[in-house]
Amino acid sequence: VQSKFPDMGTTIFTVMSALATEKDAVNLGQGFPDFDCDPLLVNAVCDAMRKGLNQYPPMAGIAPLREAVAGKIAASHGRRYDAGSEVTITAGATQAIITAILAVVRPGDEVIVLEPCYDSYVPNIELAGGTVVRVPLVPHTFRPDFDRIAAAITGRTRAMLINSPHNPSATIWSREDMLRLQDLLAPTDVLLISDEVYEHMVYDGQEHQSAARFPGLAARAFIVSSFGKTYHVTGWKVGYVAAPAPLTAEFRKVHQFNVFTVNTPVQHGLATYMGDPQRYLTLPAFYQRKRDLFREGLKRTRFEILPSEGSFFQCVDISGVSDLAEDDFCKWLTTEIGVAAIPLSAFYGNGFDQRVVRFCFAKKEETLNTALDRLAKL
Ligand code: PMP
Ligand code: GLN
Repeated sequence: VQSKFPDMGTTIFTVMSALATEKDAVNLGQGFPDFDCDPLLVNAVCDAMRKGLNQYPPMAGIAPLREAVAGKIAASHGRRYDAGSEVTITAGATQAIITAILAVVRPGDEVIVLEPCYDSYVPNIELAGGTVVRVPLVPHTFRPDFDRIAAAITGRTRAMLINSPHNPSATIWSREDMLRLQDLLAPTDVLLISDEVYEHMVYDGQEHQSAARFPGLAARAFIVSSFGKTYHVTGWKVGYVAAPAPLTAEFRKVHQFNVFTVNTPVQHGLATYMGDPQRYLTLPAFYQRKRDLFREGLKRTRFEILPSEGSFFQCVDISGVSDLAEDDFCKWLTTEIGVAAIPLSAFYGNGFDQRVVRFCFAKKEETLNTALDRLAKL
């Protein structure tokens, strides 16, 4: 066939996980836990199946789960979304993001992404016929550069994607950052897609600054999150989007013909399980222990350890360890040292000039220790 997308490659996560499996390497590349979820969550899903909750749910998701999501956002961020008209359950954050983009981006519309960015954003915008406008985060610190963002906004800008805690850099946006964005967008009609899948993984006593907390942002935002990250079930592929009713109405126009709806028993199980907020409130401490163990172990290596304020990622600069370009370094590390990582170049278009790779520390302590022992030999 004549390819519709001749330049579209295979996602780095597929490539690196396949190589890790082939080489029997410790996979700190693709972001997923190597430990199981709470058995109570599995029981809740199985109970729903046994009760016969196995047919199509309502298009936007079952009411108890949408209510649980609205309640969680209200408790965490002080904004009350209407469960009926403003919350939609999706097949993971991935589907939430592409559906939001398809719902609002018209051919020729400009959409701003801040690079490095998650690898689905750019192809999603292209699939919608939009024009990708790449604005780099400040090299090495990965902070937003508001002057450059301001300069990128034109009369054709339809939307902007932000992501905090950030994949891949593990930085988070401060309250001041969000206020600056709010001021910047105030005179515009630019819509916001706020990818907050790591919202419950913020460390050192800091707080996640959801776009939901800022009325001028929330009014224009699709807020996206993922149960996969929060409850250690990435393979279930269930997430949600919260957005003001007029935006949600546009979102659902696409959602109904895109997935129509999402796995029924998993929705029921999650609705039951979410009743106890401790299940997400304990997540920062749970992951901070892993982050601290991993960072402590990295001190035995010659990597430069970059900050990890949120998410389950840790980036390192490889300059002190190798002269290889980071893509080649990741392949070499997987093949020869037995540890898989993700090169940051996968999150950029052109113009990448750093030498940084990303590890995922959502792993058992023994897995992290095995990887660290191998990395210490470099
Ligand atoms: N956005 C970001 C920043 C992510 O890291 C991920 C997970 N890799 C997703 C979206 C997709 O989440 P899900 O698995 O729920 O589709
Ligand atoms: N979000 C995960 C990561 O960044 C992987 C998701 C995927 O494999 N597409 O590693």
